[in-house]
Amino acid sequence: MKCLSCKYGDMKEAKTTYFAQLNHCYVIIENVPCLKCDQCGDEFFAASVAEKIDSILDSLEKIASKIFIMDYTTAA
Ligand SMILES: [Zn+2]
Repeated sequence: MKCLSCKYGDMKEAKTTYFAQLNHCYVIIENVPCLKCDQCGDEFFAASVAEKIDSILDSLEKIASKIFIMDYTTAA
């Protein structure tokens, strides 16, 4: 699969750290599976992974804490 950003590099399976800033807190999810370009470093999430991240973020909205750090492999 070619990179959608630079259209030159190859997308390789990798793990990344996802960071999000919500209305009232920060979220860091470690070990998120992604495809990463070996040229420009752009990262792409599969639809199933993006959905999982969304559901994790949804569940976190209800918890009143400032910073969350979690591992994707244990949250999944
Ligand atoms: Zn690229």
